[in-house]
Amino acid sequence: MRGATVRTALVAAFLLALSAAGAPAAKSAAKKAPCDLVVVAGHALPMDAAFTVRGATAVAVRGGAIVAVGDPAEVDAAWAPKQRIERKNAVLLPGLVNTHGHAAMNLLRGISNDQPLMEWLTKYIFPAEAKNVSPAFVTAGTELACLEMIRGGTTTFTDMYYYESDVAAVVDRAGLRGVLGETWIDFPAPGHANLEETKTVTRAFLEKWKGHPRITPAIAPHAPYTCSRETLQAARALADEYGAPLLTHVSETWDEQMQVREKHGKSPTAWLDEVGFLGPRLCVAHGVWLSAEDLATLAARGVSLAHNPESNMKLGSGIAPVAAARKAGVVVGLGTDGSAGSNNDLDMFDAMDFAGKLAKVAALDPTPLTAPELLRMATIEGAKALGLDRLVGSIETGKKADLIVVDLGKAHVEPVFDLPSTVVYASRAGDVSLTVVDGKVLWDGKRVTTLDEAKVLAAAREWRGKVLKSLETSAEKK
Ligand SMILES: [Zn+2]
Repeated sequence: MRGATVRTALVAAFLLALSAAGAPAAKSAAKKAPCDLVVVAGHALPMDAAFTVRGATAVAVRGGAIVAVGDPAEVDAAWAPKQRIERKNAVLLPGLVNTHGHAAMNLLRGISNDQPLMEWLTKYIFPAEAKNVSPAFVTAGTELACLEMIRGGTTTFTDMYYYESDVAAVVDRAGLRGVLGETWIDFPAPGHANLEETKTVTRAFLEKWKGHPRITPAIAPHAPYTCSRETLQAARALADEYGAPLLTHVSETWDEQMQVREKHGKSPTAWLDEVGFLGPRLCVAHGVWLSAEDLATLAARGVSLAHNPESNMKLGSGIAPVAAARKAGVVVGLGTDGSAGSNNDLDMFDAMDFAGKLAKVAALDPTPLTAPELLRMATIEGAKALGLDRLVGSIETGKKADLIVVDLGKAHVEPVFDLPSTVVYASRAGDVSLTVVDGKVLWDGKRVTTLDEAKVLAAAREWRGKVLKSLETSAEKK
């Protein structure tokens, strides 16, 4: 026994000496893997299924994708990045997902306020659009919107407008991710005067942008009160042919509810179902007046909902039944809507804050829509509403590197007791100090890397003059 123990000790000592001698060689053999970017932050909300709240966290990015998420020491030991960005008193999140808007309308920001939707649309927005919307307008407006979104931590957005191929060109340059829908409407619209032209323009748009890594071309019939059965059926058929998403407005106002009921004898949702428009890859905006029956129909058809609390409040449209929709199994994302008078900005931190407070005041109960739920709606559930949840919406290995960092350490934020509630109820778009999309830094807290900010803002001011002039001329003519 004794001899065996001595032998064992000798073998152990020999092995120890061997491993000590071999250590430097082993260390150099375990070379760090190259990667493009490592982002380190003092806190993280990766928005994984378990809703993990992490302390110091590092994310390694290679080829636009997340290759590691972990403790900074571990990630630093394993990866050799070309660029390393560290924010100590800050929280790392997946980029925010805006599920409803009209980006180019940023050029009409606040042009008309404090009006009901139908008045606002028919007296101000449609005439202003008829006189001004062109590829140049759409380019300048979308650039302004992209600038605002990049600085404010939105990495994926949804668009319903005209000249979407020009919108896509801006989004491609700006580096954002977008689900971009060419609007279909039953009156002559910018870029197409009738259904045949609309179909031709949209088909060319789908052909041009299909397969783009960040741009998903989509079809956006405006609403059940502005689109006929034929228009809606043609939109659904073309979307199915291309596997493209569909975007529309549904049950936004009580007026719409009444108009559709009068015309078709049923709710907008029931009518859309009857014409065969409801189905997969459809995200409907607003849904303020959806009944329990409508919600069950949307859930059964796999239709998602874009909730726009600020727009619904500002236009006096009503309070969307968000908690009931989620309970019914409808995937709900958050949106800002356009800036022309229904919001009037693209701040997704506001969207979370308002969505939470609106649900609470509607229920006279503070428990519906908690801060973690609101964060999910602004990230992973928004991504799911757009069919992009396998790519983005959370910080997990294998997903696209769409990340933001929100600075803490500010008078309106400190002290932080509960990270989710801080981000939802205290943080602002202006606190975002890093925006990364597809692994590329678009905003580093000092400058936007893909757009000439001074030029974009100067163009917006120039367009203000042109729009005002066009409206004066129309007033004179009357
Ligand atoms: Zn809208």
